Amino acid sequence: MQNFQNAVAVVTGGASGIGKGIVQALLERDAQVVVADRDAQALEAIASELDIFPVETDVTDAASVENLAQQTLKRFGEVHILCNNAGVGPRGDISDMSLSDWRWIIDVNLWGVIHGLHYFLPHLTRNNGFAHIVNTVSMSVLTPPAGLAPYVGSKAGVLGITEVLRQELENDGSSVGVTALIPGPVTTNINNSLRNLPEHTSSALQDFNLSQKRPTWNFLPPRQVGEQVIESIIENSPYLITHSFFEDQIQKRHDEILAGIVRPSDEVVSLERGRS
Ligand code: NAD
Repeated sequence: MQNFQNAVAVVTGGASGIGKGIVQALLERDAQVVVADRDAQALEAIASELDIFPVETDVTDAASVENLAQQTLKRFGEVHILCNNAGVGPRGDISDMSLSDWRWIIDVNLWGVIHGLHYFLPHLTRNNGFAHIVNTVSMSVLTPPAGLAPYVGSKAGVLGITEVLRQELENDGSSVGVTALIPGPVTTNINNSLRNLPEHTSSALQDFNLSQKRPTWNFLPPRQVGEQVIESIIENSPYLITHSFFEDQIQKRHDEILAGIVRPSDEVVSLERGRS
């Protein structure tokens, strides 16, 4: 088991679910862990259970994430691991969705990651030794289901940004590693995402109870995902896909994408068709 003894880690959305599983796995490796979450009660609960530094943070708010970075540096002087993990996943069809529904989900899932990168990247790149960023995406990006448009749209943005970030850091010869965490079903409180809706907002969204919808899916415990994340940091894996049983669906979708490529021979045929 690799030790993270001098590492300082920040986990957003760390008071529940996958974030908490990552926090527990990091603590087991002796990292110092900052837990950032907008849910004050959940933060209080995790702070009484685990030896963490809680910082109430709303990732949709740039100033709040800037404060998180300042609090982290004030307390620990440096930061090595950033897990941009906070997210919400309610469902609703595009035709029913209000603009504020779109905005909320994209604010949390996409802008939350952008804020994290903006305020932490300069400090992570300053470490000459070891640093790592884990951005939480979702299997739904690789196998997009109906009813999750803002979720899939926001998470697709996170995947793209993560892939670009990895290339840019590699081009710069940076020691900062990057992983896209792509979870399948995990037993968390995501089924109750509407608890995170800002108070004044009304919404056409519904909570999306994954476990009722798909009783045969292999739901992982968050702690197991936490272990997978530790491995991916050690290996500096570009992608961590938590489940194998979506492989056929991912393959089918990517085959369909590849089938859409217009090849030179197709162009000749369609030009000839156009002439006749
Ligand atoms: P969860 O609801 O248990 O945890 C999410 C945490 O994010 C909560 O503690 C919540 O308070 C926090 N949060 C929500 N809005 C926030 C905000 N504005 N600012 C700060 N914190 C905020 O759900 P989870 O399943 O553990 O979700 C973690 C991540 O995993 C999310 O990005 C989610 O999209 C992703 N994910 C989950 C699954 C799954 O099956 N559970 C699958 C794929 C991806």
